Amino acid sequence: MQLLHTVRGAVWIIVYLLFVLAPLFALLAGSHPTPRDFWTEFAVAIGYSGLAMMGLQFGLTARFRYVTAPWGEDVIYHFHRQISLTAVGLVVAHPLILFAVQPELRAPSNFIGAPLSAYFAVVSLFSLIALVVMALWRARLKISYETWHLTHIVLAIVAVTAGLAHMVASGFYLPDPWKRALWIGLAVFWMALLLYVRIVKPLFMLRRPYRVSDVRRERGDTSTLVMQPDGHSGFRFTPGQFGWLTLWGSPFRITGHPFSFSSSAEAADGRVEMTIRKLGDFTSAIAEVPVGRRVYLDGPYGAFTIGNPADMHVLIAGGVGVTPMMSMIRTLADRGDKRPVILLYGSKDWESITFREELETMEARLNLTVVHVLSDPPAGWKGERGFINAKVLERHLPPIFADHEYFICGPGVMMDAIEKALGEMNVPLSKYHSERYSFV
Ligand SMILES: Cc1cc2nc3c(=O)[nH]c(=O)nc-3n(C[C@H](O)[C@H](O)[C@H](O)COP(=O)(O)OP(=O)(O)OC[C@H]3O[C@@H](n4cnc5c(N)ncnc54)[C@H](O)[C@@H]3O)c2cc1C
Repeated sequence: MQLLHTVRGAVWIIVYLLFVLAPLFALLAGSHPTPRDFWTEFAVAIGYSGLAMMGLQFGLTARFRYVTAPWGEDVIYHFHRQISLTAVGLVVAHPLILFAVQPELRAPSNFIGAPLSAYFAVVSLFSLIALVVMALWRARLKISYETWHLTHIVLAIVAVTAGLAHMVASGFYLPDPWKRALWIGLAVFWMALLLYVRIVKPLFMLRRPYRVSDVRRERGDTSTLVMQPDGHSGFRFTPGQFGWLTLWGSPFRITGHPFSFSSSAEAADGRVEMTIRKLGDFTSAIAEVPVGRRVYLDGPYGAFTIGNPADMHVLIAGGVGVTPMMSMIRTLADRGDKRPVILLYGSKDWESITFREELETMEARLNLTVVHVLSDPPAGWKGERGFINAKVLERHLPPIFADHEYFICGPGVMMDAIEKALGEMNVPLSKYHSERYSFV
């Protein structure tokens, strides 16, 4: 399985590079315009590359399960972010180099009488800059997630369309009809990706709705939504995976919210549960969702899954990061898996431990040890206090540390600290898996 994922991962990297580089190399084939100085040609080449990378961003966020499976969605979103910065860097460098090597371009008279292609370039460039500024500093600019998401999509479409228009209107490297056809074909492909995500996928989800069959209040400001497939058999998931939930309105809504499945993957009737902590406007309304409400689920996604043969599963959760762990524990119990599992679970206090009672009963059903770590323990607490760190891990895990399989989910600071601690305990990277609850 691991080998298959590695091979699949390698194939997708090659496909990605092909899509980014092939259009650039295609420009070198066929007839050529009169060569110009090196820096002018270099500036044009990076402009083309930046545009090809930006267009492919629509594919990275299209949630193709087959493509994202080898890495997991969070890694893909991280890559989307990093590669955007590279693409924008190339696109910004493109005019800067041209201005540097062709001083006549900087003359004010040139701005006034500039050809249409230059105006397209300006629109593309400024849309991109706005897009990056909003993506990097959304929270500081106090832009809500929903507003940001919509603006992000609009700016991306404007930037790529204006970039293409600039390229075609400049036309320097596109004298041959087949080269023009190639770039137009690419642009159609990018837009098709967008249409797939925004139209085809929601249509598919519309035909496979779910109904809320129960809403359970849990400890720690958290509620569990129990959802039943309505008129279909649902989907299978692997414990640890997540789905995008659309609760109010249709699946055509721009923003869905990602939540891990907290139920057992062995439920025979296709039922799925998500356990959601009050955090903002969307999550605060979960407890009030009426039973019978029609909802839409897009999933399953993610590579944060058990499956590898390990001598011991070590689950490290902080707060609501326990939800994928609960799915793993419930699934292992339903499967009668007797391999040892240890859950190191960080919470604020004793009363706010989500799933506390069920975890106690689970200790009897499977070979499970639960270690609670409380940052605000009650008087007389004899257990671990503070935060999960290397010392806590070493106190509770049997050697050899590198033989176990680790799963980490919780607040960013906790995850950073644990990943660092595991590195210091000589646990190889391939042995630990992380799920971060913040894509953006
Ligand atoms: C893979 C994954 C699994 C998750 N599983 C769970 C879970 O099992 N239980 C749980 O309680 N929470 C989970 N979360 C977090 C949950 O998605 C956010 O807390 C929720 O979307 C916040 O929405 P809000 O409108 O209530 O809060 P807001 O106040 O609007 O947002 C709070 C923060 O959450 C993030 N956020 C908001 N909307 C989204 C969105 N649509 N997509 C991505 N991030 C968003 C933003 O960074 C925002 O700043 C998960 C997140 C991810 C990425």
